[in-house]
Amino acid sequence: MPFQLDYEMLRERMVREQLMARDITDPRVLEAMRRVPRHAFVPEPFRSRAYEDGPLPIGNDQTISQPYIVALMTQALELTPDDVVLEIGTGSGYQTAVLCELARFVYSLERYPTLAERASATLRDLGYHNAEVYVGDGSQGLPDMAPYNAIIVTAAAPVIPGPLRAQMANGGRMVIPVGDRYQQMLQRVRRRDDTWTVETLIPVMFVPLYGRHGFLPPDEPQMEDDNLLDDEL
Ligand code: SAM
Repeated sequence: MPFQLDYEMLRERMVREQLMARDITDPRVLEAMRRVPRHAFVPEPFRSRAYEDGPLPIGNDQTISQPYIVALMTQALELTPDDVVLEIGTGSGYQTAVLCELARFVYSLERYPTLAERASATLRDLGYHNAEVYVGDGSQGLPDMAPYNAIIVTAAAPVIPGPLRAQMANGGRMVIPVGDRYQQMLQRVRRRDDTWTVETLIPVMFVPLYGRHGFLPPDEPQMEDDNLLDDEL
């Protein structure tokens, strides 16, 4: 019989050694991380490493984030079961699945059609029916479905994109890495009526958010970079 990894055991160890041993304390987040089969979102050649303490390649020069960062960002969103979430940067769909466990509905936007299609199929195969994956420039958000109780951006932005701020519901939270292409600070934004407050969490390193309110895409060099439209908070 071929050697089979015990993914459930590896996942339990990930929760204890990488999450609980650090500062992930929200029982709902820990339970969601226990339930979602991370290996199903990792491309075959890296599957045996799915529960390691780091990011892994998923194609198109993109990565599935480290489990701890997924848990930390999810915890920072303070989700309730009624929340509607906007996720920017679907990638493999793993973070989407974690959000699906904790919120009512997740709208997720991905720039690369191949990643969006694969993520969508994985989510469907695993029985997650409370998510929709769209292809597009997430730096502009998804205004048609706004407002959102929570917004999570899993790629690094040069500034907090104005459209995302505008699409937050009153009382909403947004978690987003903000900085340059090589290092960022994870920020949590809260909206109360027409006031947005920003809290800095930890230093992080994400792939760039490309787009109209992000960094200039390498494959669209002619695109006008109008970051200046985004007033800094
Ligand atoms: N959360 C993902 C997961 O669990 O696999 C990992 C996300 S990966 C770190 C960042 C993703 O953001 C990449 O898939 C990248 O293609 C996407 N991205 C970058 N700029 C984007 C944009 N403007 N709109 C939508 N997605 C974007």
